[in-house]
Amino acid sequence: FSTATAAVEEPISPPVQINYTKLLINGQFVDSASGKTFPTLDPRTGEVIAHVAEGDTEDINRAVSAARKAFDEGPWPKMPAYERARVLLRFADLVEKHSDELAALETWDNGKTYEQAATAELPTFVRLFHYYAGWADKIHGLTAPADGPHHVQILHEPIGVAGQIIPWNFPLLMFAWKIGPALATGNTVVLKTAEQTPLTALYVAKLFHEAGLPPGVLNVISGYGPTAGAALASHMDVDKLAFTGSTDTGKIVLELAAKSNLKPVTLELGGKSPFIVCEDADIDKAVEEAHFALFFNQGQCCCAGSRTFVHERVYDEFLEKAKARALRRTVGDPFRQGVEQGPQIDSEQFDKVLRYIKSGVDSNATLECGGERIGSKGFFIQPTVFSNVQDNMLIAKDEIFGPVQSILKFKDLDEVIKRANATRYGLAAGVYTKNIDTANTLSRGLRAGTVWINCFDVFDAAIPFGGYKMSGHGREKGFYSLQNYLQVKAVVTPLKNPAW
Ligand code: NAD
Repeated sequence: FSTATAAVEEPISPPVQINYTKLLINGQFVDSASGKTFPTLDPRTGEVIAHVAEGDTEDINRAVSAARKAFDEGPWPKMPAYERARVLLRFADLVEKHSDELAALETWDNGKTYEQAATAELPTFVRLFHYYAGWADKIHGLTAPADGPHHVQILHEPIGVAGQIIPWNFPLLMFAWKIGPALATGNTVVLKTAEQTPLTALYVAKLFHEAGLPPGVLNVISGYGPTAGAALASHMDVDKLAFTGSTDTGKIVLELAAKSNLKPVTLELGGKSPFIVCEDADIDKAVEEAHFALFFNQGQCCCAGSRTFVHERVYDEFLEKAKARALRRTVGDPFRQGVEQGPQIDSEQFDKVLRYIKSGVDSNATLECGGERIGSKGFFIQPTVFSNVQDNMLIAKDEIFGPVQSILKFKDLDEVIKRANATRYGLAAGVYTKNIDTANTLSRGLRAGTVWINCFDVFDAAIPFGGYKMSGHGREKGFYSLQNYLQVKAVVTPLKNPAW
């Protein structure tokens, strides 16, 4: 495998300081009510980066009342929409200015490569706020041609206090997907970050206030799921909940929302996305894309192309090249230039991925390469490829969330559509073919929220993202996300002169 070991043993010192470790409530950094903190760890070493205030029920209560007051008393929901847009734009400029530090902090806390954070994620973050700033003053209502002499206005109003819970795999981007549409439409927010990655959200929340965001509009609580997360999901004064994370936790928060005040819930959950390589595909490109689709972000993507279906006529060639590509993948310190893969997020995920690798071996899939940890500290795993994977194996059914590619063989389109759809998930799919009819047949037949044809992981602010089946409810990004944060009010007035 790669040259990772040496790099793993001498971590590069991150070029950033940690300035924000408290909870952000009502525009102020404050300690948690209990005074408790929790450590956030460096995935390269498992060592503590910083101790962060640990929010719990009382902190969620404080944050929700600040958000409630900021919503009820304004000015945020009622200010001219263009003024809100300008705050979002000023914020985007500040993030751009601090991109290097933010990318470094994201890499340090999460383990993703600095190059990915700096060249892909920060620009995407900034672009997303430009996109939603553009929407802020274009939220139109409608009129309806009702029977009878009535003037019917349909108003689109902000929903109120939004509770948002995000995961650790893309801490900044998940913040952006949630906060962008919520604030553009005039809501106020309490956001709970993932306990593994609390740092960057606090930093950008600080920048938001520098950009002129009124106190109480955005509150950021670090803390654990069953405590702070559950308190937010079940809060009686939260008007809407947006959650991204695992399907199991999605079920819990949906239940908490139902049992408390029936707040509407959007869910972005797990996946087991098929990546289908047809016999007419450009094999070299398909190998590279399938590799990227799975290994990007250490395999920690909800939409990872984690079932690589390859047509039997090109299977052997594809497999040989996919294995060679995985063997060439450079793993090491994510701050080092040219490194493609850093460590997994934490020991829990690391152990889980190694358990799945063992299950693949035990169920007689062929381990083509990888399968072991790298180095003696941190959470690095070799890029791993399994061939001869069968649909009923755990590695073909469960979300592994790690650098483990499973390659399966198929014969024809009807068969691959059935097999690709035979999962409880339906988040995304990839298709490689040069034939437009094949592309159309597959994109119509696959039950997934996104189908990428001859590409993968194209995330534009304008493209809606979300799941079918147990991959979630609702869509984020694009126009669709605005609807998650708007109430619809019908206002009916008699017309004095119906002829008008
Ligand atoms: P997770 O469900 O364990 O945690 C996600 C968030 O939920 C964290 O903030 C966590 O603290 C919180 N949480 C945990 N238990 C909770 C509870 N009882 N009540 C309220 N909140 C609780 O998921 P994870 O391991 O952090 O993230 C990985 C998962 O997220 C994967 O399954 C992945 O597919 C999914 N994901 C989905 C998308 C998407 O857009 N569909 C994006 C990223 C990640």
